[in-house]
Amino acid sequence: MAGTIMSTARSFLSSHGSRSSALFSSSKRIKLSAVEAIRTMAYVIEERGAPNTLDYRIFTKNENGPISPFHDIPLFANEGNKIFNMVVEVPRWSNAKMEIATKEPLNPIKQDTKKGKLRFVANVFPHHGYIWNYGALPQTWENPNHVDDATGEKGDNDPIDVCEIGYRVAKPGEILQVKVLGILAMLDEGETDWKVVAIDVNDPLAPQLSDITDVEKHMPGFLKASVEWFKLYKVPDGKPENHFAFNGEFKDREFAHQIILGTHVEWRDLISGKSEKGELDIGSVAVPYATSPITSEKAISIVAATAGHGPAVALEPKVDQWHYVNLK
Ligand SMILES: [Mg+2]
Repeated sequence: MAGTIMSTARSFLSSHGSRSSALFSSSKRIKLSAVEAIRTMAYVIEERGAPNTLDYRIFTKNENGPISPFHDIPLFANEGNKIFNMVVEVPRWSNAKMEIATKEPLNPIKQDTKKGKLRFVANVFPHHGYIWNYGALPQTWENPNHVDDATGEKGDNDPIDVCEIGYRVAKPGEILQVKVLGILAMLDEGETDWKVVAIDVNDPLAPQLSDITDVEKHMPGFLKASVEWFKLYKVPDGKPENHFAFNGEFKDREFAHQIILGTHVEWRDLISGKSEKGELDIGSVAVPYATSPITSEKAISIVAATAGHGPAVALEPKVDQWHYVNLK
């Protein structure tokens, strides 16, 4: 395993060359520090539209006003201690496929749709909804034009996904500080779709979890259940089982850090205009080197232009249905 980690780290460095080392050079540090200045600020959400409708949006704000949770929250909450910020999209035990709207201005969280209807993830027995708080690491991007060295597949055009395994059920739009424990390489219909395993630093179990092997020690069966969940979750919707690189085995913390760093470098190329953005909205309020800056006034007007916040619409009972899938 160590050999694979080293080769990934090496190929990461060779494929990203000077940009990668520049990430840690003193001049870049100054720029990173400027972005990091917002990390001490408290983040709050502003809901727009009515929950459980197509109009519903969750915007992120800091004390200066609306920001993009994709671009304007620093990847690191504490770089020295390797503590990351995580944007919660889907709370544990819920089904609504909430996600950062990467193609909308300010990238609010909204519910994914399928054929014009709200998308809910099926309950594959014995699970109910997601079995972790699920979300993304800000300032990361799985570049769809870049073949991942580890998986041999291109990226899925999203920020990197995170499963937060603490006991508390989080809320959509909440920003958690997490430590990374490992990573799973899911291959979703020919795209690389990394799943980072992390825990809220404030969880009582966090001090005992430092690497992926600690998860099995303190939470026996949880990793196996997690792979099974990802393998089967689309089967009730008529899709095939998902597959995994590395035989479905989790890679360790150090490997995960290297993958995250690679997606952060890709994001830097995206936000600074070096990479093709496609349909993504790369407007940023806080990143000094962003190619599409958004003023605070503009950010306020983007939020104001969306539907006013209304009462939640009741969910259909069908969302709670259990689906039984034969394990092969
Ligand atoms: Mg993904």
